[in-house]
Amino acid sequence: MLSTEYLLKMVKIINIDSGIASRIKNIIYINKDLKDYNYSLYQLILNHELEHTFHYSLKDFLLDVRTSNLEGYRLKYWKFILTHPKSWTEFLPIMKLNGKTIINPSLIILYGLFLIISGSLLIALL
Ligand SMILES: [Zn+2]
Repeated sequence: MLSTEYLLKMVKIINIDSGIASRIKNIIYINKDLKDYNYSLYQLILNHELEHTFHYSLKDFLLDVRTSNLEGYRLKYWKFILTHPKSWTEFLPIMKLNGKTIINPSLIILYGLFLIISGSLLIALL
């Protein structure tokens, strides 16, 4: 496991005013309001983004769906989202950031699975 200090040297952190945070290769985009809102939550989210790999893989998907991600900070996280409507773009599978199109593979997989499961249930019920 690489140290946080080492990983921080490998990435570039860009403050954004929408979404929560995302990692694309060596760039971490993070909502600029998070730091002032709650520094521990900011650190937790930044550490999560640091754990992501440089090229999206199964490891990244598993990292995004593990239940321990926000341990102890779930309430604060959802309170931030509710009070910062611009953060809602976090749930878009595809969005524009600084003129660049950002794709969130984890959300595409999750939404895809949801569509398959709900579609199958609908067909079974008809
Ligand atoms: Zn993630």
